[in-house]
Amino acid sequence: MKRVVIVGAGVVGLFCAVRLARAGARVTLVEAEIQDLSVYAPGASAAAAGMLAPLDHAPSPHSKLAFQSLDLWRSLQAGAEWADGVRFDGGILVAANEADAQAVQAHARALGRAVSPLSPSQFRRRTGFDAKLDHALLVEDEGVADPLRVMSGLYMQARALGVALAYRHDASEIAPNQVATFEGGIYEADLVVLAPGAWATDALKAAAPALCHVSPAKGHLAPVRLPPEFGANLRAPGFYLARRREDCVLGATLEPGVRGGGVKPERVAELFAAAEALLPGAVVPAGRAWTGIRPMSPDGWPMVGDGGAGVLIAAGHSRNGWLLAPLTAEIISAYVFAQPIAPEWEALSPARFGAP
Ligand SMILES: Cc1cc2nc3c(=O)[nH]c(=O)nc-3n(C[C@H](O)[C@H](O)[C@H](O)COP(=O)(O)OP(=O)(O)OC[C@H]3O[C@@H](n4cnc5c(N)ncnc54)[C@H](O)[C@@H]3O)c2cc1C
Repeated sequence: MKRVVIVGAGVVGLFCAVRLARAGARVTLVEAEIQDLSVYAPGASAAAAGMLAPLDHAPSPHSKLAFQSLDLWRSLQAGAEWADGVRFDGGILVAANEADAQAVQAHARALGRAVSPLSPSQFRRRTGFDAKLDHALLVEDEGVADPLRVMSGLYMQARALGVALAYRHDASEIAPNQVATFEGGIYEADLVVLAPGAWATDALKAAAPALCHVSPAKGHLAPVRLPPEFGANLRAPGFYLARRREDCVLGATLEPGVRGGGVKPERVAELFAAAEALLPGAVVPAGRAWTGIRPMSPDGWPMVGDGGAGVLIAAGHSRNGWLLAPLTAEIISAYVFAQPIAPEWEALSPARFGAP
């Protein structure tokens, strides 16, 4: 039986743990923090909006992977402990202008995905917003995960599959076949997977130099009240809105290179101003804002594979870690069990950025 130690219990580490345990590996998941299922936890995953929105404005060589991951979410949902934390109600994308709307539709068509223009009355029915928008598009293949609900479900799923969960164990030394923690734990493995988000220390970077390519980007989110009719995500220039299982959120700022500093009222005000400009009077604050730190890669797509010294990494998920976590787990499983790596998966290899 393959023994795998995963470092980091964010959404990426948890999905990898569940996937590998399902495939028959003996998995230990090592996490530096206590299990804190609140939006104020340090990891990005609990703080995120959780939108599963694969359609971007512009095509990328990896666009198909985003949809593959959304399809995996759908197929994994049935019977999962977190099933009630995910919805696939589609999304509304408000394009900047007619040319942008045409480009988005062409991009969706090339991927074989359904996108159609929304008339003002359809827009009102789907959102409850009394606004006349010219370039609103309905994106059918879109959903949203409630991060706290899904992480708690993934944790239960991992436990049920026999994953050993070591919270409050901060990995201090990594070798291809061993992880040691500051707390005195020594975990032997056939393979080690590092999923540390934006928090890799020098020890982790020494074990997997590609982690040096990951940089932090702070994001603010604010809880809001939305009309009851609002059922899908809405993405518009300068802001987005999502209705999760328990709440609605307005997001999100993107502050490259910033890791600390807590909530900045002026950043939150920027989000409300962008929403107010498009939907006057419609988006109402409903509590304290919070922040999270995204692990950015240079091209915004994750690095999944050998981190450069015989240790696997699943890192740099940038703005789409929730969306891409199931696909990441699939790729990591292929590496662990020495199965063929599809060329489009190989394109996410950390080696694409060269030596750091
Ligand atoms: C404001 C905001 C909004 C977002 N919205 C979306 C969205 O709508 N859709 C989407 O798909 N994505 C979204 N994201 C991005 C997404 O949240 C991240 O890409 C994803 O959560 C990264 O997951 P992760 O598991 O890699 O990192 P994290 O969640 O940060 O987890 C990494 C974990 O590793 C642990 N760790 C680090 N070093 C060690 C060590 N030495 N020993 C043990 N443990 C260690 C950390 O404590 C941490 O818990 C958003 C992010 C933010 C901040």
